[in-house]
Amino acid sequence: MTMKFCPVCKTLLVPHQIGEKSILRCQKCDYFKEGVMKPLIEKNKIKKLPERGKGVVNNENDLATYHNKCSKCGYEKAQIIDMGVFISDEDNLILLKCGKCGFSERIGRKVA
Ligand SMILES: [Zn+2]
Ligand SMILES: [Zn+2]
Repeated sequence: MTMKFCPVCKTLLVPHQIGEKSILRCQKCDYFKEGVMKPLIEKNKIKKLPERGKGVVNNENDLATYHNKCSKCGYEKAQIIDMGVFISDEDNLILLKCGKCGFSERIGRKVA
């Protein structure tokens, strides 16, 4: 993103979102400029992201790419869920979630 400055008073212009539009507005005087295309890019980005959150109902999980045999149903692909360190003070906690039955297995604390 490029910095833009107010042509009137040389103050840094700050982006503001007004409904669908976004403008660059001067913090000091009333100068503003329309037509920042930034939100468009963000919308495209969001479209490309896989949906998550709303419980995956499909039997096959797109995110299940890691080769791991489920100890419950024998399916061979699992999704890696990195719980990070915010949940425990141990090393990274990683869960392997079966792409078929959803059975989660916790794996090694120490990943070399
Ligand atoms: Zn200004
Ligand atoms: Zn399974």
